[in-house]
Amino acid sequence: MGAIQAIRGTRDILPGESGYWQYLEKIAQNILSQAGYQEIRTPIFEQTALFERGIGEGTDVVGKEMYSFTDRGERPVTLRPEGTAGVARAYIERGLQSQGGPQRLWYQGPMFRYERPQAGRQRQFHQIGLELLGSPDPRADGEAIALATAILQALGLTRLTLALNSVGDGEDRQAYRRALVDYLTPRRDSLDPDSQARLARNPLRILDSKDPKTQEVVREAPSILDYLSPESRRHFEGVQTLLTDLGIDYQITPGLVRGLDYYTHTAFEIQSADLGAQATVCGGGRYDGLIGALGGPSTPAVGWAMGIERLILLLQQSLPAPVQGPDFYLASRGAAAERLAFSLAQKLRRENFRVELDLSGSAFSKQLKRADARGAAVCLIVGEEEAAAETARLKWLATQSQESLKLSAFWSQLEEIRRRLEEAKKN
Ligand code: ATP
Ligand code: MG
Repeated sequence: MGAIQAIRGTRDILPGESGYWQYLEKIAQNILSQAGYQEIRTPIFEQTALFERGIGEGTDVVGKEMYSFTDRGERPVTLRPEGTAGVARAYIERGLQSQGGPQRLWYQGPMFRYERPQAGRQRQFHQIGLELLGSPDPRADGEAIALATAILQALGLTRLTLALNSVGDGEDRQAYRRALVDYLTPRRDSLDPDSQARLARNPLRILDSKDPKTQEVVREAPSILDYLSPESRRHFEGVQTLLTDLGIDYQITPGLVRGLDYYTHTAFEIQSADLGAQATVCGGGRYDGLIGALGGPSTPAVGWAMGIERLILLLQQSLPAPVQGPDFYLASRGAAAERLAFSLAQKLRRENFRVELDLSGSAFSKQLKRADARGAAVCLIVGEEEAAAETARLKWLATQSQESLKLSAFWSQLEEIRRRLEEAKKN
């Protein structure tokens, strides 16, 4: 019998990679919490109806990509394919609107979509996302976009472009939809079969088609921007002014639409030139109609989600793996010495040092090699002689300098040693 393998489209994040994840998570959390955003954690599975209503039955996600099943109680459930629907459900169900003022929330975690696995596309992947609920103000859109940009910038990522559009409000879109259908209907035969099917159901999604012939047809299609009402145009211009004030470059991209009725006004995407085919690292926009469509009080909202795997791919291209070695690596040999080193390790950890204990019992030369490989600053060596004399040898690995210290002296000089460690780590 062969060993069991991971499910197709899932990945293990091994220690060599998890440093990147922690680095990214810390940066994102700092930036979001600085701006007043609080974390929300919702279940990773929900009633299937939530996603059908919250994402829309005509979408690829709901139509083809969901991990849906009935549980042992015959209830239809789905592993969440994205984060917004769950946050919106919690907002309504837990009455977050009654907390007064807009809610600034962020989340992070695994999402599930049945897609063809390839670089930057998995069946279990991870997103970090932001939702700003309760404000119709263009400053809310501006803040959401600015924070996405700030995170990407803090990660040191470059060669990014921000595509920006407005899809107006429901009425604007209805007028546009008619114009688009009028344009596409006589050209129906030049569209790919998927797009032909969408012509009746969800024509705006044809603008998203990856089919080259369809793209050619779409290039000459009417632009949604010509169908915006004066208020919608004001909102869009407001967002642009704020981005310009911040020096954030954007490209107005009239083909960037979201087909669903509760998406309103701002739509945006951030793409990287360093990712090949799966280039979008962040997608978002305003969704003033969603909370109402899910049965809540009409609530304007804006948000985005970033694909963490794609960001990690970029970080791996530009950064060495962030590793943090121990301050002390404890090498010991012989029963008394091992016992002494064991409690030394625990005591040093209580003093807030990073400490790793060698468990091998092998020759000191081997333990020292491991100390080096772990990137330790100091190897603390306790052999039988040292244990009997209540001393320890400190080997500073960067300089290879060694000293022998009575343990009592070691503890009384601890703050001096801490200072030297900090010094050594800087170099
Ligand atoms: P794509 O066009 O790449 O399929 P999408 O429009 O389906 O993206 P969104 O639903 O907007 O993506 O999700 C936001 C982000 O999550 C994407 O920009 C991407 O970075 C990431 N993402 C989406 N699906 C996957 C996946 N299957 N594997 C890895 N990352 C993903
Ligand atoms: Mg997709």
